[in-house]
Amino acid sequence: MSGQHTTTTGTTATAEAPEDALLARVSAGEGQGREIFEPATGRLLGHAPQHGVDDLERALAAAGSAQGAWAALGHAERSARLNRIADRIDAEAEALARLLAREQGKPLNGPNARFEVGACSAWLRATAATVLEDEVVVDDGQQVSVLTYRPLGVVAAVGPWNWPLMITVWQVAPSLRMGNTVVVKPSEFTPLSVLALVSIFAEELPEGVLTAVAGGRDVGARLVAHPDVRKVMFTGSTATGRRIVESSGANLARLTLELGGNDAGIVLPDADPAAIAQDLFWGAFINTGQTCAALKRLYVHESLHDEVVAALADVARAMPMGPSLDEDSVLGPVQNAMQFDVVKGLVDDAKQRGGTVVTGGEPATELGPLFYPVTLVTGLHDGDPLVDQEQFGPALPIVEYTDVEDAIASANRLDVGLGASVWSSDPDRAQEVADRLEAGTVWINAHGGVHPMAPFGGVKGSGYGLEFGVEGLKHVAVPKVVTRRKGA
Ligand code: NAD
Repeated sequence: MSGQHTTTTGTTATAEAPEDALLARVSAGEGQGREIFEPATGRLLGHAPQHGVDDLERALAAAGSAQGAWAALGHAERSARLNRIADRIDAEAEALARLLAREQGKPLNGPNARFEVGACSAWLRATAATVLEDEVVVDDGQQVSVLTYRPLGVVAAVGPWNWPLMITVWQVAPSLRMGNTVVVKPSEFTPLSVLALVSIFAEELPEGVLTAVAGGRDVGARLVAHPDVRKVMFTGSTATGRRIVESSGANLARLTLELGGNDAGIVLPDADPAAIAQDLFWGAFINTGQTCAALKRLYVHESLHDEVVAALADVARAMPMGPSLDEDSVLGPVQNAMQFDVVKGLVDDAKQRGGTVVTGGEPATELGPLFYPVTLVTGLHDGDPLVDQEQFGPALPIVEYTDVEDAIASANRLDVGLGASVWSSDPDRAQEVADRLEAGTVWINAHGGVHPMAPFGGVKGSGYGLEFGVEGLKHVAVPKVVTRRKGA
């Protein structure tokens, strides 16, 4: 388990690359653990420890023992620790970014590995600075009732492989801030980066306050169902989310579920294609499309459909895709073969249905086995799998519409609702459409940006619960009301 290491920060003089010391710190011993391969090169990156149920039980017992003293430290001290962790992350930023790039596949530059590591420290500082005030909910001459928020106890944090560091911070930072202790279960695709991050946290935390258990799905299932767990922070697929809801019937753990999405964007007839093309592109293709709240289906009015498609294709052709450690790359490989097959299968199906491939459309095998180029497909309709299913990769269906009412109905017709966007030169008209979209977040002339003070969460099959800001703190705490009778 990571979390009990006490090591110095920084790299050693003998290290060949900045990330080598971090990697050595968290890797399994010689000849042990699970092999982790780099998505971009297929080369062996290292061996991740394979923690089992005994490790999990130890981590939970340590979290339970540590929680009281951690809560007793108080908000100011816990915030100070989060700020110090942010400083340590900044000091190790390049090593972390390179390890993340090698394991996850995302390039160093663009909104990718260096950006993700920067977001980790920024989020820690924002969480440290956020205050959840007590609230006087009744003061009527008879009684005074004050709503306060107490720690829940032990929190389980289970995460995916697409933004493994940032999502770990989103789950862990508010939980720690509110006086909980946490056991993290990283994705089996990206355990080393998360173990490295947690080892940096551990340098500022008492033993047991935060532990990572790098197990498989079985360990995840055991963790979320454990009777000692009071809260589950889960980010991942809707299918796994449903299983966690079922298991919470036994331990009654509170849940924050950030699940899959299939975000729609609607380009209104008055939008300016040249002005929005770059933002549309990154809305869809950030992290090479492997982002929960990415733009996954784009509805464009017939009057400017061809212009938008041409402008997007121009942006796409200018964006370098390549090896993760190459300073020129801003797009990388698909993270794993399973996801690659999903993307390829959906695009192949779209072609068979008569969809027109504007760019991409065939694996970029010259770059490596997991590279798939940015692919724009037109001529599709609602009901086609590339439109209706979450591709979670570098392929975007562009659907032409005639009537805005139909586009709104299309956007709302699926059983998911994480994000959505409206693109228009008229703020009032954009707002009217935004108000009618069923999603946790609706962006206007943007897609996918998050802010540490703006609550983020889904509706329908995209889950429930909120992260970030004051609302995010409430979701990792338990409300308690103290009522005092006046004059008594
Ligand atoms: P996944 O559900 O397969 O796995 C996520 C995590 O859950 C992994 O750590 C896995 O080991 C664990 N897990 C698997 N079965 C479990 C069980 N029964 N009990 C407890 N834990 C279990 O998801 P993924 O493939 O890693 O991630 C991709 C999906 O995540 C996409 O659908 C994407 O949209 C979604 N996602 C959502 C957000 C968001 O904020 N809403 C962010 C990122 C990814």
